[in-house]
Amino acid sequence: MLLYTLGTTVTKDKTPHAEYIAQAIASGRIASTEQLTAATKFCIKNDPPANEQAFDEACGVGVVVSDDEISASVKDVIDSVKASLVKERYRGQGKVLGLIKKAPALRWADSGKVKNEFDAQVLALLGPKDERDDPAAAKKAAAATNKPAAAAKSNAGAAAKAPEAKKWEPASLEAMFADGEISRLHKAGENPQIKPEIMEEHLRATRGMVITRFPPEPNGYLHIGHAKAINVNFGYAKTHGGVCNLRYDDTNPEAEEQKYVDSILDTVRWLGFEPHKILYSSDYFQELFDLAVELTSRGLAYVCHCTGEQIREQRGGEDKGPRFSCEHRDRPIAESLAEFQKMKEGRYAANEATLRMKMDMEDGNPQMWDLIAYRILYSSHHRTGTEWCIYPTYDYTHCLCDSFENITHSLCTREFTLSRQSYYWLCDAVEVYKPVQWEYGRLNVTNTLLSKRKLLKLRDEGLISDLDDPRVYTIPALRRRGVPPQAINAFVRELGVTTTSATIDVGRLENHIRSCLDEIAPRIMAAISPVRVVLSNLPESHLEMIELPYKPRDESFGSHTVPFTRVLYIDASDFRDVDSADYYRLAPNKSVGLQGLSHPITCTEVRKNADGSIAELVCRYENEGKQPKPKTFIQWVADCPQLGSPVRLDEVRIYNPLFNHSNPEDKSTVPEGFLSDVDRNSLQVYKGAVAEKDLAENHVENIRFQFMRIGYFTLDKDSVLTAESIANDNASEAKIIMNRIVTLKEDSKKQSA
Ligand code: ATP
Ligand code: MG
Repeated sequence: MLLYTLGTTVTKDKTPHAEYIAQAIASGRIASTEQLTAATKFCIKNDPPANEQAFDEACGVGVVVSDDEISASVKDVIDSVKASLVKERYRGQGKVLGLIKKAPALRWADSGKVKNEFDAQVLALLGPKDERDDPAAAKKAAAATNKPAAAAKSNAGAAAKAPEAKKWEPASLEAMFADGEISRLHKAGENPQIKPEIMEEHLRATRGMVITRFPPEPNGYLHIGHAKAINVNFGYAKTHGGVCNLRYDDTNPEAEEQKYVDSILDTVRWLGFEPHKILYSSDYFQELFDLAVELTSRGLAYVCHCTGEQIREQRGGEDKGPRFSCEHRDRPIAESLAEFQKMKEGRYAANEATLRMKMDMEDGNPQMWDLIAYRILYSSHHRTGTEWCIYPTYDYTHCLCDSFENITHSLCTREFTLSRQSYYWLCDAVEVYKPVQWEYGRLNVTNTLLSKRKLLKLRDEGLISDLDDPRVYTIPALRRRGVPPQAINAFVRELGVTTTSATIDVGRLENHIRSCLDEIAPRIMAAISPVRVVLSNLPESHLEMIELPYKPRDESFGSHTVPFTRVLYIDASDFRDVDSADYYRLAPNKSVGLQGLSHPITCTEVRKNADGSIAELVCRYENEGKQPKPKTFIQWVADCPQLGSPVRLDEVRIYNPLFNHSNPEDKSTVPEGFLSDVDRNSLQVYKGAVAEKDLAENHVENIRFQFMRIGYFTLDKDSVLTAESIANDNASEAKIIMNRIVTLKEDSKKQSA
């Protein structure tokens, strides 16, 4: 991780000692982010190979702060301010944390551990937060009562439990399984088997533990629907004290790629889940083959040379006519065994032969009509290369892999309901342990589509930049956009494990994102379309430092200071040339308050460019005499280059819904197809926005800000941040690109970008 951070933040000419630092990381001398930051700073001014000792001192090399030392130092600081902390309760937390951060004994301690220890000690001292700490909480709890009961309950629970606002937790995972059909599934050991010995062996292996699996095919990124599947599978196991495996269902070598394998694991972890085991269907290719031989020997499979078209006809064709079996079905077992061997040895071309299961052509379920178990594919597999030229099908593979892994509850989506019968048939046919399959409804959201094929089409047509374009709902896209994982989990958990498929209004997801960001994002000031304001009654040299809370009414967030000078920027949307009675912001001869300042400003003159656009607004800072009482306070950013203000944002990207219709795949409302439904203005890019200096100091990956009165934002991965730009703010190569995660309020139409 440290190497990654180094690699993505240095440039060769700016940090000549990157290699030295890399070696220090490799040898373990630099072992934490704090040390890495110190090392980068040190190397900008010094030559480390010549000053090894100084480097080691500057970076705390070899300093180990034990858990006990952390605990003792945190206690010392808390004790020193105990009286005021008890009085101010959680409002005083930020100050104490500031002191702790400065404590010399903790300089090189693991900051995560320090924070945890601090939280624990504060909780022990003050007890959980209650009304004294958040007068708005009571109001919020009342509002929550019109949400579904489970959500309201868990919201209230979370508020009482969470001692620290910045750790926003979604509804509990366990609550998902408390009601409905899923709460009544069998217990491990209760599912009948074809022979009792099989269950005995299963229980010997599992000792009665619940085992589930999440089985994605590595042929694309995971999407919001998969977030439900992940919560269902990992959650069911966790709720029942069991474990969940990640199994890549990789039996289609043509579609699968290593990059998707990597991305899937990364996504599962990002959502907060750790697989018990990481497995691949391809791990079992030999066992699967051996069982296919066994199945054939039992007279329950045969090699068939019919074409796809012929097989479709045998199944009754398009018009669901009579069904019949082909001549290969009754060929001698020995012949099928020999033919299957020939398939494996590559003595047939693709399409010349398949292995079919001998099921029941008379059954009413199409999944029983002699499904294909193996087909020939001359393509290289991302893990087994060219070792195999026959590959098992999903129908053949899935249940057997579940069986090998002793899965107790094979949870999947509703489109597999008919497959349940073939799943059980095959396990019984080869007499192996048979899990229970149970199906739940797929999750979709409005104004988007999740199909991998269609997403690729959108990309190939240039309508989205890639599969992680922040306008689509793959999880890498949501992550890039800045959506916190807890918000995604909260969304799917609130929906519960419904058995019907549902398309949920995307607004519900956005509401969870807002609730989460409201709790975790510091507020800073920015102007997307800046307008220059000159406070004509202040001297050129005017410089005041203004302290602003990162989150009003929550001191645990701490505060920051920004310069206030004669020249400022405000957002264009906060000024109007033509005033009106219901307008409370800035207009000619009108006053407005500035966030964090005690005096308002009044616009005295509007200076225009030749083209009629506004060049600058001349205003009076009302710091003398009788003061107008402002109805609104707007955000502002000072022009104070010596203090690094403003930070210029190369791009601010505003994302609106990609599609015009709630269901772009519905032919009745979108007859021309989903491509025709794309809103080509769904991405708006603003150049030249400004933000306060704090942005530069905190531009760490994944920090999310609220730009006051505008929306929630995060840094896009297209940004370029150099070591220099981190050390000196605003170096010229740096490129800051911010994504709008979500608007502040539900109705995006009322938002002025
Ligand atoms: P897609 O067709 O959208 O690519 P898929 O079913 O092919 O999805 P898999 O990789 O096979 O994707 O899915 C892995 C697991 O996730 C399966 O158990 C599947 O049932 C589940 N899953 C896929 N899509 C959804 C969804 N929209 N809602 C809930 N679960 C889903
Ligand atoms: Mg699939």
